[in-house]
Amino acid sequence: MDWVFCNKCSIKFQQSMKYYLGDCGHIVCERCVSSNTGNQQCLICKEPASTLELSKLMNPSMQMLFWPFENVIEQCYKVFKFQNMHRNLYVEALMTKYNFLKKEYLKNYAKTKMLRKENHFMKEKLQVSNN
Ligand SMILES: [Zn+2]
Ligand SMILES: [Zn+2]
Repeated sequence: MDWVFCNKCSIKFQQSMKYYLGDCGHIVCERCVSSNTGNQQCLICKEPASTLELSKLMNPSMQMLFWPFENVIEQCYKVFKFQNMHRNLYVEALMTKYNFLKKEYLKNYAKTKMLRKENHFMKEKLQVSNN
């Protein structure tokens, strides 16, 4: 959290103080927020913004903004590995199906070839007996 500071008075993040995050992404300390009471605008960008106290009670997607970057990457890698495992399982299942169908196809191809030969042979036999 070495990069967290009040965007208004520039005081660096310290555990003993409260900090607030606006919808707009600006962070303001409790002292600056109290000077802004009743005002629904962000002190920095003047956009209408509701603020949220930085705490462990923030929703996880907001908390993630404050995670050390290595943890974010680690989490991304976990997600990638998980999704990739399922993709590979799907490919494996498709390959099993493909191999089964290929075997069936080759079996039927050989059977058809044999039947064609038999058909040809019988036609010839019929011609001989007709003549
Ligand atoms: Zn401040
Ligand atoms: Zn703002």
